[in-house]
Amino acid sequence: MAATLIDGKAFAAKVRGQVAEHVARLKEQNGITPGLAVVLVGEDPASQVYVRSKGKQTVEVGMNSYEHKLEADTSEADLLALIDQLNNDASVHGILVQLPLPKHLDEDLVINSIAPEKDVDGFHISNVGLLGTGQKSMVPCTPLGCLMMLRDHHGSLSGMDAVVIGRSNIVGKPMAQLLLGDSCTVTIAHSRTKDLPDVVRRADIVVAAVGRPEMVPGDWIKEGATVIDVGINRIERGGKNVLVGDVDFASAAERAGAITPVPGGVGPMTIACLLANTVTACCRANNLAEPEGLTA
Ligand code: NDP
Repeated sequence: MAATLIDGKAFAAKVRGQVAEHVARLKEQNGITPGLAVVLVGEDPASQVYVRSKGKQTVEVGMNSYEHKLEADTSEADLLALIDQLNNDASVHGILVQLPLPKHLDEDLVINSIAPEKDVDGFHISNVGLLGTGQKSMVPCTPLGCLMMLRDHHGSLSGMDAVVIGRSNIVGKPMAQLLLGDSCTVTIAHSRTKDLPDVVRRADIVVAAVGRPEMVPGDWIKEGATVIDVGINRIERGGKNVLVGDVDFASAAERAGAITPVPGGVGPMTIACLLANTVTACCRANNLAEPEGLTA
């Protein structure tokens, strides 16, 4: 393997350490404990695992964690009433509604009912607009984690050619906005892109967020490019269930300058950035200096 491994697990531990330091300072100097409320509707097994993990890590960095578990048949009115209560609760600085929601609930309506300054997932339409216009916003966690790793590896990203494969609202589009904000020349590719291999071959930075196991082979990667693999795909290999990314790691690592593995790359950064966003939201709510290096 020629490429440098970008170790998301170690980087996420560092981010959590910075968050914990800032939380300790807020408690000591200002008497404030940041609080994150997570709302889970229904019993989706994957969502339950994520919510448990978020709660555990929130407490580990010294913040308050408030979990609200609602029945799968909770009415929209009851969910909106809970969000309204959390919006008005001064001890709650971040609110996250775990997606997907059961089908009878309107996700857009629910997300847009969260106070934008407490929307630590960065999905509220106001935060999308603020990010798109280069203003201070809450930034979606997964793209923020990718940006932090890219900045850490390269320093400045200015002038680099970046390709984001995928145009979802939670990863692809905000990722492209962040790269543009750091003065990359950005191409967003998707399922209708003509000649994807050619588009990828021109990129100094490739962010793959597709959800198709190992679809990007090594020979699409420009020599020395940095590859950030957001994909998480569960496949069967050699009789075992394994996790793989959207990039064929083995062949891409032969050509890339640096690459994130799956697992242990982007994945651990997502919750770390959720914690970072919560401490940022808490500082903004109290007109205090934001922690450095934890926002876009
Ligand atoms: P979506 O399904 O919402 O979006 C996938 C995107 O990939 C779409 O824009 C789609 O294009 C594009 N696409 C599909 N097929 C192709 C193709 N053959 N060539 C080019 N583009 C294609 O997925 P998400 O953005 O939500 O997630 C992407 C991946 O990232 C998933 O594996 C997911 O599990 C993972 N993920 C990981 C996270 C983490 O913490 N590490 C967090 C969030 C997601 P089109 O719009 O044209 O349909």
